[in-house]
Amino acid sequence: MTRLAIIFSLLATSALAQTEAAPDSSPIPPARPDSLTDETPAAEAEGEEEGELETMPGATPTEAEEAVPEAEPVFRAVASSYPEHAACLEELEEIGASFEEIEMVTEEDDRDCGILRPIELTEVLPGVTLEPAGTMRCETALALARWTRDHVRPSVAELPDSPEVTGLTNASSYVCRRRVGDPQEQPSEHSFGNAIDISAIELEGADPLPIQNRNGDADLLEAVQRATRAAGCLFYTTVLGPGTDPAHDDHFHFDVAERRGNYRICQ
Ligand SMILES: [Zn+2]
Repeated sequence: MTRLAIIFSLLATSALAQTEAAPDSSPIPPARPDSLTDETPAAEAEGEEEGELETMPGATPTEAEEAVPEAEPVFRAVASSYPEHAACLEELEEIGASFEEIEMVTEEDDRDCGILRPIELTEVLPGVTLEPAGTMRCETALALARWTRDHVRPSVAELPDSPEVTGLTNASSYVCRRRVGDPQEQPSEHSFGNAIDISAIELEGADPLPIQNRNGDADLLEAVQRATRAAGCLFYTTVLGPGTDPAHDDHFHFDVAERRGNYRICQ
């Protein structure tokens, strides 16, 4: 009897725990009927590893989680509210970027990937193209525009003959993939339009300035690259680049991932 009582008691405690552990029920949009599998293939090979590790809900449901309503797709969870988005678009227009609002991006094969209110950015600032154009959230584009205006242009202006910045080479913007090298295969920030990779700064009348390992070059180009990279973290919450790991040896990775405590990863 005593044993039975203990079992009952344990069962009751467990039931209570489950109730308390149930999701905190922020409104959950209806799941797409075709999106119930989370067995998303690992990333395409191109990838890289973003530094942030704890922003995204787990991608693979445990047995316990399967019993409760499905979590919101990550791309919806990270989306800003409509008023925030509208304010962002206004600022992006004011700064002089060229862009187009495009239809919501979703992926049949991965319910977490997508962008609720994407834009296609073609010009970061007047006369500064993004080559090729990139799909991203407005916040990602606005950060790029501010970084270019306030830090890339002035830094490049210190080079001989003060060349004009005419473009940024876009190595990757929106793409649905997992972080390479992450044992949990968390989605890359590129999967939500939060990230942009810049592999070169294009200059008028001069060769482009490629992002590369310049450690120890001890010249002005190294100074420009260091200055612009450091300034990236004023606008983005993640900055990775040459020296971070082999996947980032030829570009800056910038993203606007939000983390607990608002901490930043500036490498
Ligand atoms: Zn990247």
